[in-house]
Amino acid sequence: MNTIIALATPPGEGAIGVIRLSGPDAITVADQAFYGKDLTQASGHTVHFGTLRTAAGEVLDEVLLTLFRGPRSYTGEDVVEISCHGSPYILQQVIARFVEEGVQLAKPGEFTMRAFLNGRMDLSQAEAVADLIASESEAAHRVAMQQMRGGFSDEIKALRQELIDFAALVELELDFGEEDVEFADRDDLKALILKIQRTLHQLMDSFRLGNVLKRGVPTSIAGRPNSGKSTLLNALLNEERAIVSDIPGTTRDTIEAALVIRGVQFRMVDTAGIRDTTDRIEAIGVERALQSVADAAVVIYLFDAARLSPTEVQQDLARLHREGLQLLVVANKIDLLDDAAHDDWQRHFPNLQLLSATERLHMDALRDTLYEIATGGLLQSEHTVVTSARHHDALRRADESLAMALANMSAGVTSDFVAMDIRQALYALGEVTGEVSVDDLLGSIFGRFCIGK
Ligand code: GDP
Ligand code: MG
Repeated sequence: MNTIIALATPPGEGAIGVIRLSGPDAITVADQAFYGKDLTQASGHTVHFGTLRTAAGEVLDEVLLTLFRGPRSYTGEDVVEISCHGSPYILQQVIARFVEEGVQLAKPGEFTMRAFLNGRMDLSQAEAVADLIASESEAAHRVAMQQMRGGFSDEIKALRQELIDFAALVELELDFGEEDVEFADRDDLKALILKIQRTLHQLMDSFRLGNVLKRGVPTSIAGRPNSGKSTLLNALLNEERAIVSDIPGTTRDTIEAALVIRGVQFRMVDTAGIRDTTDRIEAIGVERALQSVADAAVVIYLFDAARLSPTEVQQDLARLHREGLQLLVVANKIDLLDDAAHDDWQRHFPNLQLLSATERLHMDALRDTLYEIATGGLLQSEHTVVTSARHHDALRRADESLAMALANMSAGVTSDFVAMDIRQALYALGEVTGEVSVDDLLGSIFGRFCIGK
């Protein structure tokens, strides 16, 4: 193994910038450039103050240096972390100083790849690190943290082990060739497979939620023209993002913006008002609005409470309704109504949210409802959430192979086919935890990291 170096903090100005070195020569090369203490004699998990100098002895920066001795480090190798002043120029000079000494620039994800190769974490944990770096919202962060701490790979590992034990028995039967022996009890095997499939299905279902948390909950604001959709988007974002006017049909295209409520990210889409129109461009907008509603996990249906009748609202709702859609019904412009009219609306629609987008009335209640709808209590629980498409795919393949094994057993097919199905399932499960390691698999995972990780 060579020794690698990279900036560990984001590029750009900062109070400090941290440079990380990892590998067998990390401590000796750091010692050559560092004036303060003899690092080769220092023990692990210690911090040292001093200066970094060029080969000619000029001071580059005053630094704090943290020393880790392998295997007790992030990568499992000797690691030195140098906290410099956060000027891009200084940081670049410091890195150049070490490159002169033969240290190599790290490739994206190389630190974490080494951590994996040295057994410091398993593959799904390593991927969670990538997600953690990329996670923009607190909820996504929470899911990534949970996965990194072991999360569902423990669950998969345990199930895989049970299956391996059975597979060994089935393989043993094959050794007996002609003789008709059955070491693996078929009923027990079936029961185990069904149990594994149940877990796989749960994990696969969680993928939808996981994905939503990572990318943001797709949320569409829909309703007739002039109901105040663009005003609501602007109010939620606290900026004038969409054009608001009293001319119906102002918003012709869909406008998308990200919004974070209590750590959950929403991808809000303001749409053209849904109505029949002869204007060709507006018609395209209406088309897109309908598409956005179809793609959304949550739809905020907004109507002008001063103009519409309950029957008209009822008609709109019937049009929007679809299986699995979370529909939030909001009466806007309540500033134009008196209390009696408020009560009237709420009598017609028990779960109705009252709102005034221009006066910012009841905006907090709307935010709370959005948050609750999106998370549905799932986040609070100890639910394991699958967020990676690669994991999802591997789980699906494992599930398919297990289904094949079951079908083949019922059809009375010979053991060698069943053994093959089980082997395939084991392989797919192993891809999740990294227990089968495939070079290109590693390359494609760690390549997603930023340099310095
Ligand atoms: P959109 O077509 O649904 O996007 O509606 P807009 O956001 O463009 O608003 C249409 C008109 O309704 C504008 O003149 C807004 O100022 C007005 N409006 C929006 N929300 C409210 C509200 O809560 N109260 C009142 N009085 N007017 C509103
Ligand atoms: Mg609009």
